Amino acid sequence: MPATPAWPPQSTPRLFVETELAPGPITVDGPQAHYLVSVMRTKPGDPVKLFDDRTGEWLAVATDIGKRSLTLDITERLRPRETVPDLWLCAAPLKKGRIDWMAEKACELGVARFVPVITRRTVVDKPNTDRLRSHMIEAAEQCGRTAIPEVAAPVKLATLLRDWPTNRALFFADENGGAPAAEAMRAHAGPAAILIGPEGGFDTDERDLIRAHPQAIGISLGPRILRADTAAAAAVSLWMAAAGDW
Ligand code: SAH
Repeated sequence: MPATPAWPPQSTPRLFVETELAPGPITVDGPQAHYLVSVMRTKPGDPVKLFDDRTGEWLAVATDIGKRSLTLDITERLRPRETVPDLWLCAAPLKKGRIDWMAEKACELGVARFVPVITRRTVVDKPNTDRLRSHMIEAAEQCGRTAIPEVAAPVKLATLLRDWPTNRALFFADENGGAPAAEAMRAHAGPAAILIGPEGGFDTDERDLIRAHPQAIGISLGPRILRADTAAAAAVSLWMAAAGDW
């Protein structure tokens, strides 16, 4: 949950829970109870919004408040789970702060799935997918999403390409040039993914391998070399504007 109160300040606290929600009482403990009681100062009768990534978002009212746990009474479903635009972000893991930022932005911007891709110049071979999921959850709590993007297990580039689903376009962000991204995305509707390289870029063999793939569409994100995290946010934004739910 957010370390600081969710935006806008004073709004109803909003929490993701792992259990499937339904009307009735639910007990919240651990860091979530700390957040509600000590950070948000939740009192009996105060509303709390909950979502579970399965049934949607629910309204609950705090009833019993203890030091380490509190009970909420779930009263009504506010929204069903959202329909998620069918976009994957496939990106080489970056060092800690940058990949966390990328995961957070990917969630806010609306991706369905995040796939860490191991390439020759990847500096982090074992990204902490649990930590990435935590960042996604926190972002979903803040931005009002009712679905948490799936964080896939890290996969090698060659394996990713070998097992690529035949119905999914692969927009390959290539800093050496490609079709203007917005145009290419408008021209290829349907399930899609964006592929972003590590800070050192893809090497020549990797670029050849990607470009030879039947579903790959090389795209340019402009004349400037972007950092990988910037490239990911820019490409996802362009796809969402062209084909997503914006
Ligand atoms: N090879 C570069 C840096 C790579 S930038 C170097 O070391 O100079 C990291 C990744 O961001 C790239 O692999 C690419 O996927 C993406 N990227 C950055 N700028 C881009 C641009 N202008 N167009 C398309 N993709 C870009």
